Order: sequence, then structure tokens, then C-alpha cells
Amino acid sequence: MKTYKFKMYNHPWSRNGHGNGELHRTIDGHAHVWNHCVALQRRYYAIYGKYISKFRLMKHLSKLKKLTRFAHWNPLPSQAIQDVAARIDKGYKKMFKDRAEGKKCGRPRFKSRRKYKSFTLTQSGWKLLSDNQIRIGKRIYRYFKSREIQGTPKRCTVKRDALGDIYICVLTDYVEPDTIRTMTGNIAGFDFGLKRYLTGSNGHDIESPLFFKRSLNAIKRFNRRHSTKRKGSKNRERARLDLARKHRRPGLGTDIANQREDFHWKLAHQLTDKYDEIRLEDLNLQGMKALWGRKVSDLGFADFIKKLVYIASLKSVKITFIDRWYPSSKTCSVCGAVNESLNLRDRTWQCPSCHTQLDRDRNAAVNINRVGASTPSGEVVSSR
Ligand SMILES: [Zn+2]
Repeated sequence: MKTYKFKMYNHPWSRNGHGNGELHRTIDGHAHVWNHCVALQRRYYAIYGKYISKFRLMKHLSKLKKLTRFAHWNPLPSQAIQDVAARIDKGYKKMFKDRAEGKKCGRPRFKSRRKYKSFTLTQSGWKLLSDNQIRIGKRIYRYFKSREIQGTPKRCTVKRDALGDIYICVLTDYVEPDTIRTMTGNIAGFDFGLKRYLTGSNGHDIESPLFFKRSLNAIKRFNRRHSTKRKGSKNRERARLDLARKHRRPGLGTDIANQREDFHWKLAHQLTDKYDEIRLEDLNLQGMKALWGRKVSDLGFADFIKKLVYIASLKSVKITFIDRWYPSSKTCSVCGAVNESLNLRDRTWQCPSCHTQLDRDRNAAVNINRVGASTPSGEVVSSR
């Protein structure tokens, strides 16, 4: 588990044109819920000599929310309200435990609005969007994204500090890697592909995950539709917007983004655990865009490389990039002959010179590995 803390933008900005006022109101609202619960518990205790259980309290709160008298609680996220009940329950449990052990411990107290600082959302009611945006409730906010978030987000706490600035604390399931690794003596070259994510020079292949294939299909569909429309036409623009919208659709788009992040980090760890040195082609994204369409950047090769280089630097694994102009696919890995007539569609080919039957990606990986071995250390990129 790892928590990331980010500061929210302070100036009023959002798609709907408002600032953090809503978040302040939500925190204030929770202060009210908290104090209401504390008062309730105290009254109940005075009458019955015991406290209300968490689940009864939760049920009671959801009932109150529906009453007109508590209409101002209605905009508060249900989960966060339940969280208040859980926190109060925790407070009482701690009190009982401490008192049983003979320690001094006060009961949960009333808190002034000024002292009340946060609310917490679990699975729903929030979503990390692309770039530095987060949706909380129905609104979208921006935060200072000082670092990449690793792992799957599980919980978000919106906090207010003494100055009235708002922060988000995102908890993920990420586990810090054990960065002390023992040398394995393994070195391999890898070729990036669309169907097979990585093809290893030594036969170590990484298949593309399902979500990746889904985005790949969307890209193909888009390219097909997009390219059949006349350039500059309204239909072409419509096709472009359609796809953009699909990617932005809450749920699909962000889920894919999260899954992709997850896949990237896991793969980066897997490879850096296994290899002392990893040789790759310096990706020519412009060239790939020309070949596969501009949406290829959605597949996140460049993002993966960034993460791999970062993890490798933590674990002292060497990442070597070979020159992007080296024809790794067209060169026969057996005799070195260059097949200029090789087409992108040729998945296998026979070397015109030595007649070896070659698998396109494997052949490229073998070449990358070999060229990487002789790449001068000055060109080696192993730091961030
Ligand atoms: Zn050959």
C-alpha cells in the first residue's frame, strides 16, 4: 500500500467553472455529520448505557439523508458519510480497548468546522482521469501531479490544511519494490510489437494483455473509419471526435488507463528482476505513427519505457538503446544481409542470401541484442 499526496489547484478552474468551494462545503458537511453522530452516541449512552453499533449508525445515517430536515446532507457522498460512522466506531472501540488496558483515553469529541479536516471516498464517487485531473462527485478538479501514481487506486481522502488549501491523498495497492537484486547473468534484447508486446531474443515473449488488444481494435477501427472520410470533411471530424469521446468515457477509458499502468509496472519489475541488461530499440514513435496511425501513442510504449528505465535505475539494471536507424527488422540475423523489400505485412520471411526462414519479430530481437552488445557505453541510457 502506498499513499500519494497531491495539492489541488487553488484558483477557480474546472470544466464547470468553479473552484474548490464544493470540496470545502463537503468537508464542512462531514463535520456536521460527525457532530450529529457524536451527539447521538452520547444521548444513547446516557439512556441505555451503551453505544450504537457501526451498522445501526450507518443505517440511521442513510435514513436521515432522505429527510427534508437533512436535505443539506444529500449532496454529500454516501460512502464518505458511512466512513464518518466507521471512524466514530473506531474511536469508541479504541476507547474501550485502552480503558480495558488501564490507559486513559477520551471518547470521540465534537469538532468545530475549522478543526474538521477531511472526508474519504472508497470505490466510488471519485476517479483519477488523464493528466492531472480527478473527478470528485460530479465535478472535475486539477491537482499538481508531482509524480506518477503506481498501482491501482483504492481510496481517496480529500484533506484541508490549516491554510484552507485542499489536498488529495490517493491510496494504492502498490508495494515498494525490493531494490536490492542479485545479478542473474541474463541479458536479452526485445522488440516491441502490436500483437506480441515484447519479443525476446532468447525466446522470452510477453503477450499483449486483453485490454491492450481492445484499444488496438479501437485504433484500427478508428483508422479505418477516419481514413475513409475525406480530409477536412465534417464526417472526418465527427469520426475523430467519436473516438476521442470513447477514450474519455468514464469507466472504459480510465479503466484501460489504470490496467495499462498496472501492466507496465508489473512488466518492468518482472524484466528487471530477470535481466542484468535489457537491450531495446530507441522507439521511433513518429515512424510508428506513420505506419500504424497516430493513435499508436495510446498503446503506451513510450510510457512503458519511461517506467522501465526508472525501475532499472533503482535496481541498477542496465538499459541499452540501439540506434533507431539500425534496420533491425530488415537485417538477417544469421548472415547480416539486408532485405530492402521487406514489407510491414511480412510476419515471416526467407533471407534471399542464406535462405534462412526468419520470424520477423524474433529476428529483430536477436539483432537488437547483438547490436546492443556493441553499442558504445556513451550511448547507454540507464538513468532517469
Ligand atoms: Zn541471411
